[in-house]
Amino acid sequence: MAKRKLTRRQNWRIQKIQEERAARASKKDAAIDEQLENSDLGPEQHGLIISHFGRTVDVEANEGERQGEIIRCHMRTNLGQLVTGDQVIWREGKDSGVVVAKLERKSELLRPNPYGDMKPVAANIDFIVITVAVEPTPHANLIDRYLVAAELSGIEPVILLNKTDLLNQENREKIEAMLQRYRDIGYEVLLASSSSDEGLSDLKTKLDQRISVFVGQSGVGKSSLINALLPGIELKVGALSSQTRKGRHTTTTARLFHFPEGGDLIDSPGIREFGLWHIEPNDVIDGFRELQPLSGLCRFRDCNHEKEPGCALKSAVEDGTISEQRWNSYKHILCSIEEQNS
Ligand code: GDP
Ligand code: ZN
Repeated sequence: MAKRKLTRRQNWRIQKIQEERAARASKKDAAIDEQLENSDLGPEQHGLIISHFGRTVDVEANEGERQGEIIRCHMRTNLGQLVTGDQVIWREGKDSGVVVAKLERKSELLRPNPYGDMKPVAANIDFIVITVAVEPTPHANLIDRYLVAAELSGIEPVILLNKTDLLNQENREKIEAMLQRYRDIGYEVLLASSSSDEGLSDLKTKLDQRISVFVGQSGVGKSSLINALLPGIELKVGALSSQTRKGRHTTTTARLFHFPEGGDLIDSPGIREFGLWHIEPNDVIDGFRELQPLSGLCRFRDCNHEKEPGCALKSAVEDGTISEQRWNSYKHILCSIEEQNS
């Protein structure tokens, strides 16, 4: 009896808190709407979210007199979450602007917030540069994890080998064989060295006209590359910031930068760690572009690709159509996700 009473009281309290919250939000809405209605605001125009700070955003004007300028804006509260990379409609006010609409996103990068809910951290990214280096030794399984995350978000990945100045007789053969496996399944591989400038002009061409992110393990030279591509931004090189350590939730906001030779970069410690979050075991295969088309060809529709007869995947591994490394990676990722979910 007592227990039930307590629950009712708790329910009542929760309801009250929610009502108060809703009232506060609609007050803010009303204030912004009032501002919208008074004619001090300029005409509607297109803009791009460069950065996001709690209740305000920095919007870059895409047209009009202030084109190219960055304007701090408030936002209508009914817009849902705005993130770096969002295309918006905004109106200019006296001291700041107001974002009045968000355009549809082409893509989203999601990651869990501290409560475990998946939230977008950046929008409209069209290129993921998976960065590896001659040193620290690249691990194919890690590349595969990034590839799965990219494929499942529908964003085109490219593999970039940095520090080519460190290639030598001992490491060259192994690294080249690994990269060739990715070329064989249709991924593009770029080579670069931020210290000798090798490959940087090819990379710049690739980055032109799109919004990119650089991902990859710490120490592969992402900061060095970004510094070489974006003179003046001066990211700390070689510093393992506390934010990039495992298990921490990063709060640093993502920011959009323009490359002087074309294209944009969205960067934040959280984005660099972009990974496999909340993926269903059944979806892992969709992240392996050479396995996915075969998975429908197994004799049994619910084939687990383990010991079943007539498994199209197993036989493709046996006859060498599918690389053993990729197959092992698939199994490994699947296992780790099943463990995580259990
Ligand atoms: P991040 O953790 O991925 O951002 O990597 P950093 O940019 O901080 O670089 C890690 C280390 O690799 C630093 O000591 C850099 O000086 C070094 N480094 C970066 N790029 C190159 C390169 O092209 N060649 C060589 N030899 N070292 C590099
Ligand atoms: Zn099968």
